Amino acid sequence: MENRVYVRKVFSYDYAVLRPLISGLMERELGGSISKGMLAVIKPNLLAPAPPEKAMLTHPLIVRAVAEYLIEKGARVRIADSPALGSFEKVLKESGIGSALSGLPVEMAEFRESAQIQTGEPFRKIELSRDALEADMLINLPKLKTHSQMLLTLGVKNLFGCVVGVRKPEWHFRTGVDREMFAKLLVQIYLALKPAFTILDGILAMEGQGPGKSGTPRELGLLLASRDTLALDAAVCGMLGVGPADMPVCNAAMRMGLSTGYELDGTMEKIPDFKLPRTSGLVFGPRPLHGLMRAHLVQRPVPDEDICRLCGECMRYCPVQAIEKREKKLRFDYNKCIRCYCCLEVCPYGAIKSKETLPGKLVRRIVKGRPSSK
Ligand code: SF4
Ligand code: SF4
Repeated sequence: MENRVYVRKVFSYDYAVLRPLISGLMERELGGSISKGMLAVIKPNLLAPAPPEKAMLTHPLIVRAVAEYLIEKGARVRIADSPALGSFEKVLKESGIGSALSGLPVEMAEFRESAQIQTGEPFRKIELSRDALEADMLINLPKLKTHSQMLLTLGVKNLFGCVVGVRKPEWHFRTGVDREMFAKLLVQIYLALKPAFTILDGILAMEGQGPGKSGTPRELGLLLASRDTLALDAAVCGMLGVGPADMPVCNAAMRMGLSTGYELDGTMEKIPDFKLPRTSGLVFGPRPLHGLMRAHLVQRPVPDEDICRLCGECMRYCPVQAIEKREKKLRFDYNKCIRCYCCLEVCPYGAIKSKETLPGKLVRRIVKGRPSSK
């Protein structure tokens, strides 16, 4: 059953316990679908350089156990992510993942190249890591953490790391302060990538103001696994006493007509007094300036009056009615515009281009390498 969620109590990162447990779960759910020579990409949470005791990143021994199982089955294994802060090499070193994997025939490579995929409304397309998209099998290894913008960062949110490099803050600006829109984008990314298996590290989890160093590590002793990442996320919400409608990602999935139902294998215990974060906006900087920042920093759709025939196609398509015709010209309301760039695509004459703003160019340089969020 696709939406079966395994819940296991694991009290420490004891490799003698983790290795057979993880192999057993993977064998049960994936055993028949791994063939010799296939490329398996493992996507842990590698947000930023941090040691395991900070509970920011997937524990190195979970990554190792997954890698060893896949190697045993004959797969080629690559560990990959696109850290929001710090170099990939530094994250591997400080997290202990580099040394935990030493001696194993695995490749460790940062996501660098992107490929464009169609996502549907409102943005219609997004660029995701080519490695993640083209893997024969994607294994998703999130950490159980709070998230001061999206409440929790679990399986679906972990896949935002497949948006390469500086594109992450760009997406935060495009979705702006609209949490629902960002959650929908995350679900669309999940649907595009569809990991074969998700194993969530909640042994040492994070509560409070996650997902970075402001969060507080908390021992929960939990390991969850499923082929259905949404089901897994919904099961964690159930354990933490969060209704699926209160968790933006699950809520977005339900509004998109997806199921967040799950079948449990194991015991679902309620976790008392788990400290959820005070949630804040999706873009950094003072809140009153967020609208202004999006209006001025993200590339704008700009019509070329010489080419435009005022056919009105872009106006009909714009999901937020940000375009109108006045005095025989198109007028764009950049405060309303959500930068979905649909108008560029639908214009039959190619009359609209996206143009970088000057402040946008300057800020892009500053935000390069700034922590986004995973
Ligand atoms: S103006 Fe263009 S980019 Fe802006 S919201 Fe409308 S269709 Fe999307
Ligand atoms: S779709 Fe293109 S040609 Fe038609 S009104 Fe919009 S910009 Fe002008």
